[in-house]
Amino acid sequence: MKYLLKGVRAVDPAIGLDVQRDIVIEDGVIAQVEASIAPTEDMIVLEREGCVAIPGLVDVHVHLRDPGFEYKEAIETGTAAAAHGGFTDICSMANTNPVTDEAAIIDYVIDKANEAGHCTVHPAGACTKGLAGESLAEMGDMVAHGAAAFTDDGRGIQDAGMMRRVMDYAKMFDKVIMSHCQDDGLVGKGQVNEGPVSTKLGLAGWPAAGEEVQIQRDIVLSELTGCPIHIQHLTTAHGLDLVRDGKARGVAVTCEATPHHLVLCDEDITTTYDTNLKMNPPLRSKADNAALIEAVKDGTVDVIATDHAPHAAFEKEREFELAPFGITGLETSLGIVNTYLVEAGHIDLNRMVELMCINPRKILRIEQVTLEPGSTADITVFDPAAKWTVEADGMYSKSQNSPFIGFELIGKPTDVFCKGKLTLEDGVVTA
Ligand SMILES: [Zn+2]
Repeated sequence: MKYLLKGVRAVDPAIGLDVQRDIVIEDGVIAQVEASIAPTEDMIVLEREGCVAIPGLVDVHVHLRDPGFEYKEAIETGTAAAAHGGFTDICSMANTNPVTDEAAIIDYVIDKANEAGHCTVHPAGACTKGLAGESLAEMGDMVAHGAAAFTDDGRGIQDAGMMRRVMDYAKMFDKVIMSHCQDDGLVGKGQVNEGPVSTKLGLAGWPAAGEEVQIQRDIVLSELTGCPIHIQHLTTAHGLDLVRDGKARGVAVTCEATPHHLVLCDEDITTTYDTNLKMNPPLRSKADNAALIEAVKDGTVDVIATDHAPHAAFEKEREFELAPFGITGLETSLGIVNTYLVEAGHIDLNRMVELMCINPRKILRIEQVTLEPGSTADITVFDPAAKWTVEADGMYSKSQNSPFIGFELIGKPTDVFCKGKLTLEDGVVTA
């Protein structure tokens, strides 16, 4: 199949490209990029004047829930949601059942994702067996089978000595440890950010310090072991300062921010106790929102990641304290970032590409694609002016636990090429 993508604004800071182009895609790669290409009979032409083409979006933090929790999400539905959201590549988390802590589960995830064919899945393996934080998982074997990184996401590794062994071991394979920073002693049964809001609502507080002490510990351990550390879903102003300081010292530390922690804050949780505002780590203060946006601008934040965490309606429709943590995010990420960061004037499209395409590939150690001839054709096309309202009905994810339902966004993915295969066409996921 040969495609001609016509009239797009091609944006790729890796090669200094930001100009209108026609792009030919053939046999899985980009065959031609020119100011104007005349269509030939063997081409399927996609007229996309006014749309933007960028290297495929990558999400380094996705819960596909499969194996084990297929009633929340399955590899088929989660990867379809990823394509719908404009992603070509995602990294799946290891808190499945059984836990992704051995090669057989890595194989299972990759095989099922290939079968579904909606996007490329790079599974993360667990750092410790059963996510128990007590003994090393079979990391070497998992690397041999395609694990892209390691994380016990969903839990913080409590013992510093254990974390050191994890990092010593991962370093041998040049893999990143992605750290969910949560000190159980400080966080306990915390439900929302500790502060005026937790007091007002009568909910147990989840203090910023519960996250920050592990951020600091992991930066120190990265310095000690030389193993790269990636701080997941960072939410606090002080946590950002710790990363800034580590980077200034030359520590191999990177971090991610989620769309929801950039846009929503603890004051959005009211006496309606909307459980779609319950996630881990929790929504922080307005001041933390501002600090995160500043850190996105100044380069402290490397990556925007969704922490897509589907839960069934019956699980979320409970008392706030009993509902599980987590919200979906794959299908709203680009729209949120374009609306609240790009349209709002905080960053330009080049910076967005760094945050959502280039840096995630560096962290996962996967092939860096570009918008030039010869590159693998992983391309996301979106309409930067499309105004739309987020609706549960339009989602491909099996779960609709999104706090953004009802939000008016600007910017929507139209087409996605994943290794040259058209996985999203005019906003519709292909079979
Ligand atoms: Zn997490």
